[in-house]
Amino acid sequence: MPKEFLKIKKVCKNYENIEAVKEVNFTAKQGEIIALLGPNGAGKSTLMNMVAGYLSPTSGDIIVCGKDIRQFPLWGKENIGFLSEGAPLYADLSVRAFLNYMAELRGEKKSRVDEVMKIAKIEQVAEQKLETLSKGYQRRVGFAQSILGNPNVLLLDEPTDGLDPNQKKHIRALIKDMGEDKCIVISTHLLEEAENLCNRIVLLNKGRIVAEGTLAEILKKYKKSSLEDVFYSLTESKGE
Ligand code: ADP
Ligand code: MG
Repeated sequence: MPKEFLKIKKVCKNYENIEAVKEVNFTAKQGEIIALLGPNGAGKSTLMNMVAGYLSPTSGDIIVCGKDIRQFPLWGKENIGFLSEGAPLYADLSVRAFLNYMAELRGEKKSRVDEVMKIAKIEQVAEQKLETLSKGYQRRVGFAQSILGNPNVLLLDEPTDGLDPNQKKHIRALIKDMGEDKCIVISTHLLEEAENLCNRIVLLNKGRIVAEGTLAEILKKYKKSSLEDVFYSLTESKGE
């Protein structure tokens, strides 16, 4: 039986009068790549930031590799890698200096920086300043940062947002290559990403899960022939 790496139990988040995440429940196991799919404003980033420990839930529990991250925040940090949305990078640092710095913060050895640069295929730009990199390379550096601690749970918030088709393909290949030992959660509003990269889909709308399962299960349940049709019938963008 694959191990349960992530359990989200009745998680809610209110920002003053906005209910951004409403009673979300789901579990994710080792070996799964899960798409947190939803339109803009659905609550994807809010949910990811709570799992990553950057935001605390208004209510509910988040269990990472068997422990509640509210009680064991350090355990959470050790077991989670996070690529936040449009991850801010330190523009005037070189790729290597940035990763060395992040490795030091995490208590990782410098040799780990060489390993993640190899995995993310950014060795050739190691000495280049971050601000001089293309968006595709910047995303790869962010990805390299997220796997520094070789985390069990990897959270990637719109990892291919703003990239051209070739760059998207590269990042998706990297994610697939991360292997079966992790549990990867990707937030996206891209249907093809959910369909082709992920083995399970959690569809979020206005802070609530409105559908969940494999693509085949979802199509069957909602009697639709494409994920696009399911998306149109179950979601709408907030504030538009
Ligand atoms: P997504 O990532 O799916 O686009 P978000 O999690 O960013 O969605 O946002 C969910 C909802 O919460 C939106 O209505 C958004 O406007 C609101 N929201 C997000 N962050 C804040 C914040 N810091 N303060 C107030 N409202 C917020
Ligand atoms: Mg977002």
